[in-house]
Amino acid sequence: MSTLHLYDSLTGALRRFEALNAPHVGMYVCGPTVYSDVHLGNTRTFLSFDLLFRYLKHLGYKVRYVRNITDAGHLENDADAGEDKIAKKARLEQLEPMEIVQRYTLGFHAVMQAYNALPPSIEPTATGHIVEQMELIKTLLADGYAYEANGSVYFSIETYLKTHPYGELSGRSIDDLETGTRELEGQTDKRHPLDFALWKKALPEHIMRWPSPWSVGFPGWHLECSAMSTKYLGSEFDIHGGGMDLKFPHHECELAQNKGATGHGGARYWLHANMLTLNGKRMAKSTGNTLDPRDLLAGTSEHLSKAYSPGAVRFFMHQAHYRSVLDFSDSALQAAEKGYHRLLASMQTLRKRPAHGPEQGTWNFGEWDAACTEAMNQDLNSPILIAQLFEATKAIAADQIDPQVLGTSGAKELLGRMEVWMFEVLGLAPEHQANNQQWQKALDSAMSVVLDLRQKARETKNWPASDALRDTLVEGGIVVLDGPEGSSYRLE
Ligand code: AMP
Ligand code: ZN
Repeated sequence: MSTLHLYDSLTGALRRFEALNAPHVGMYVCGPTVYSDVHLGNTRTFLSFDLLFRYLKHLGYKVRYVRNITDAGHLENDADAGEDKIAKKARLEQLEPMEIVQRYTLGFHAVMQAYNALPPSIEPTATGHIVEQMELIKTLLADGYAYEANGSVYFSIETYLKTHPYGELSGRSIDDLETGTRELEGQTDKRHPLDFALWKKALPEHIMRWPSPWSVGFPGWHLECSAMSTKYLGSEFDIHGGGMDLKFPHHECELAQNKGATGHGGARYWLHANMLTLNGKRMAKSTGNTLDPRDLLAGTSEHLSKAYSPGAVRFFMHQAHYRSVLDFSDSALQAAEKGYHRLLASMQTLRKRPAHGPEQGTWNFGEWDAACTEAMNQDLNSPILIAQLFEATKAIAADQIDPQVLGTSGAKELLGRMEVWMFEVLGLAPEHQANNQQWQKALDSAMSVVLDLRQKARETKNWPASDALRDTLVEGGIVVLDGPEGSSYRLE
């Protein structure tokens, strides 16, 4: 299996990845609902798709990665009832809803950056695409897949079922879905309990509202992703992703909307990342069973014995396959950190390796690198990739005793490839880069001591000592700047 294969939820099978318009790839991932901070579970899903984004780029694809921000119309209850989550938070905190959106969007970006996730190519917001959502509703109404009732518009499952299957993505039969759905009180506008809202007429207390041909109201949650994915990627595109819990109803409804409006289901591959659990239970905002991704970096949580670097946390996550449930624990994280540091130390050994032995060694580097590729080609099997990286550390250890193992060029080549797998593909930033703030603080305090010493040497006209200090720093890439206010430094 030397080409990329991805597990597609729609067919329930591992499928060879063929881009619709290679080398271009269109990928859409459902982003966060910005009414609170993202938790470590959300972070895991976004890092799973960061891994995919990175690997597709590594394979040479030009990826247009669209990840939305859900900043409107997401009701507390999947049955289209309850209060808008953002508006509720705004009401409780006496803020404008867009202040809530801004605060948590910035927080989300900070977390993504801290964990070295690459930014998407486009990050559209639901509120910025109300017009597109209304256009989609008009198309569905014209095609007969939707109906208006008292200023709200619903998607008609009964009509849809005449020409399409419903439940194919989540593998649910209509009978199961019907028995699992109760008609909610006050939901009389719907013709069928499985119908879902495309547009909701706003109740007087609903803050986030827009004028439309049907009522002053707001769009249904599922609609935004259909509108934004097709706007930026076309009615047929390559990959749609999200967490497992979005399969139903969100993605199932998206698929139905897309088929109803364009004839295409949207994505050709539907990918779902599995959940992160804490104490065996899914991390979820609603239950409070969560960990704040920032707490891990600061070590400020009752669930932690210490602080961890973003690289160690990512390593912990990628040691599990993205489709497996991963349970969080401090001891598992400690074990991952140990392994991660072992790999970094092994790479450091390679960097410092003196040029000795033959050019090429006896170790089969080509076979090892092919095994790494093969692992990632099999539905992004990062745990097997990491196992291969540990195999390389064994060869590095053997090479220390006998330089015939890697050879001089072989060692360089191996280091280069390990850097690619570790940093480019797995996104494990080298410790000093990932932990920039901490390093900056440490460097600042060490430099203040050094600059003080140099100042004292200058005051006593001990020029050789002051010059020696400056020259040593320059060798390390630190330039000392002498000014009227005293000395400072900058990195070369
Ligand atoms: P939300 O902001 O709740 O829509 O969630 C953002 C993303 O995180 C979605 O793709 C969810 O499926 C995903 N997600 C939510 N809870 C977890 C969890 N415990 N583990 C992994 N992913 C999750
Ligand atoms: Zn979505």
